[in-house]
Parts: sequence; structure tokens; C-alpha cells
Amino acid sequence: MSDRERNSCVIIGAGVSGLLAAKGLREAGWRVTVLDKGRGVGGRMATRRFGGGSFDHGAQFFTARSDEFKGMVADWQKAGAAREWSRGFADAAGNPNEDGHPRYRGAEGMTSVPKHLARGLDVRTGEKVVRVDGDGGTWRLETETGTVATGDALIVTAPVPQALQIVGSGEYELPGPAREELERVSYDPCLALMALLDGPSGVPQPGGVQIKGEPLDWIGDNRLKGISEAPGITIHAGPQWSREHFEDDEAEITAVLLGFAGDMVGANVVSTQLARWRYSWVSESHPEPCLLAQANPPLVFCGDSFAQPKVEGASLSGLAAASALLGVG
Ligand SMILES: Cc1cc2nc3c(=O)[nH]c(=O)nc-3n(C[C@H](O)[C@H](O)[C@H](O)COP(=O)(O)OP(=O)(O)OC[C@H]3O[C@@H](n4cnc5c(N)ncnc54)[C@H](O)[C@@H]3O)c2cc1C
Repeated sequence: MSDRERNSCVIIGAGVSGLLAAKGLREAGWRVTVLDKGRGVGGRMATRRFGGGSFDHGAQFFTARSDEFKGMVADWQKAGAAREWSRGFADAAGNPNEDGHPRYRGAEGMTSVPKHLARGLDVRTGEKVVRVDGDGGTWRLETETGTVATGDALIVTAPVPQALQIVGSGEYELPGPAREELERVSYDPCLALMALLDGPSGVPQPGGVQIKGEPLDWIGDNRLKGISEAPGITIHAGPQWSREHFEDDEAEITAVLLGFAGDMVGANVVSTQLARWRYSWVSESHPEPCLLAQANPPLVFCGDSFAQPKVEGASLSGLAAASALLGVG
């Protein structure tokens, strides 16, 4: 099949990888539909608002190591979607720990970046894909709301354990070798607590404490970060504590995490919300930047579980997925 004939693609997931894959294919003249189950775009680049505060509760910041990603970040900065936040954060004892490498944030919260990337694309949110069929050289997807999307090619960007469930939801059967490779990928969970405060928190400038331990991994101050009018903190539990307490009662988790945060809370807590990320950080990744699981009809898996983790890895993986499809001739 030539590129002229194979010119439509459905992408599951409007996180940074899905949106960059969509942009890559659109620029090559493909018709692209992106479906996401979330209320908005961004996936794990997530910002929530409540009580006058804004809280990044998934990714807190991102770094850029490769020249390719540095170029993308420079474009996002020029477009007003991203800003440099700092050159390092306080350590567990609250001491400054700058290392000279820029840490970036979304301009008005992490979702500013995916919102910017989604402009001009056909992105449909609130559409959870519940069935995938791949007969007769075409993909056919059905969502919970009854929407049907079809395409010559399919890209799946959900965290791999979810991706495997999605592609196995209909008559289609993934080739054995691809399934085996993907079954090796794993993630850690993360419990993320957002707390609106009645005054300044105890988090030191520039607004983050990188603990990297158990039971706490991170405490961020969303006002010092520059994304929230009202004072409010985001607390991330470490992977082990999150796994052990993932299903615990919300009030219990909240009380325990606030207790661990201690003086870093620094003010009275007005209200809280909890996000339970079943798939947050990749613990076992796939070695390639994406996986072309089969060529006809084309099926590509990509996202932060491929080659490199985090926002940078997910972005590069999205671009690799678009290139992989453009290369199937
Ligand atoms: C708590 C936490 C902290 C983090 N901290 C950092 C950090 O500080 N720095 C950093 O660089 N990275 C961090 N990350 C990781 C970073 O957020 C991810 O690597 C990156 O955002 C992944 O992008 P992605 O496009 O691969 O996946 P996602 O953003 O997960 O996108 C996948 C999308 O698929 C959608 N989806 C899933 N199933 C379906 C379905 N059935 N139908 C339709 N849509 C579906 C989801 O809604 C989601 O939007 C953190 C993540 C978490 C959770």
C-alpha cells in the first residue's frame, strides 16, 4: 500500500506522545483523529483547579536533554505555552540544590503544553475506546459513548498495560512476539494529594522539594511555581508507599500524607483532592522509541514506556511513531 492510499490514522490518547504523533502525520497530509477518555487533553501532564487554586498533579516539571527536544521546548516557550521554572529544587532537608539544568513547566500549569499542541488537530475528549477491531485492512474503534472511528492505521499511546487491554477488547489478536515484548513493560503507581491552604506553605523557593524517597517523593508549591493564585501544594507519595496504600480510604491517605509532609505544609489546609495514578513512572521500559507491531493494517505503540521515560521520552516516542508509519510503504 502506498502513502497516498494509506492516509488516515486513529490515535488513542491525547497526551504529549499522541498529540506529537498526530502533528507529525498531519504535516505529512494524513487525516488524523485523536480519541481520549479524559475531560481534557494532556494525560499525565495534568492540571486541576478547585477552590481558587491550580494544581499540577501529574508531571511536575520537565527537562530537555536531547537537541531535538530542546528545539521543541524552545518553540513551546516562544508560543507562550512553556516557561523555565528553575535550575534545581531543594533536597529532602530543604536545602537549595541547583545544578544548572533548566526545569520547565507549562505556562499556566502542565496542561498548557498539550493544549498548545492540540490546536488545529481533530481531538475528541470524553471518548473512552472500549473496542478495537482490525479486519479487512482497516481499523474500527468504538467508544463508550457509541462513537465509531475508522482509520487505515492505529497508534496506541495509553500506558502499555492499558494499551494491551484496549487492543484486546474486540476480535483483533495482537501478534504473539509483539504481545510478549509489551508484556514486559511495567509502571509504578503514584498517589498525588492536592491541598489548598489558607496561607504560604513551608516549601522553600523555587517551590519544590525533591525527596525521592518513601513515603514521600515530592512536594511542590503551585503558587511559588507561578501557576496558582491561591496557595496550594501537591504531594507525591513514593512508588512503594503508593502501591501498598493505593486502595486505602481517601481520608486516611490524606491524613497520613499531610502528616509526613509536616512543616512543609506550613498553613491550615482548606480542602484537598486526591489523584490515584495507577500508571505514573515507567519501571521497566521497551528498548525502542516505538513498536510497529504489524504493518498491515499498521499498528504502532508509543509513549513514555518506549526508550526514554518522562515528558521528553514520550515526546520523542510520539515523533518516532509518526515516522514509523510514514516509513511503512
Ligand atoms: C504523578 C506523576 C508525576 C510525574 N512527574 C514527572 C516529572 O516530574 N517530569 C517528567 O518529565 N515526567 C513526569 N511524569 C511522567 C509524564 O507525565 C509522562 O511520562 C508523560 O506525560 C506521558 O505522556 P504519554 O503521552 O506517553 O502518556 P499519557 O500522558 O498517559 O497519555 C495517554 C493518554 O491515553 C488516554 N487513554 C488511556 N486509555 C484510553 C482509552 N481506553 N480511550 C481513550 N483514551 C485513553 C489517557 O486518558 C491519556 O490522556 C509524571 C507522571 C505522573 C503520573
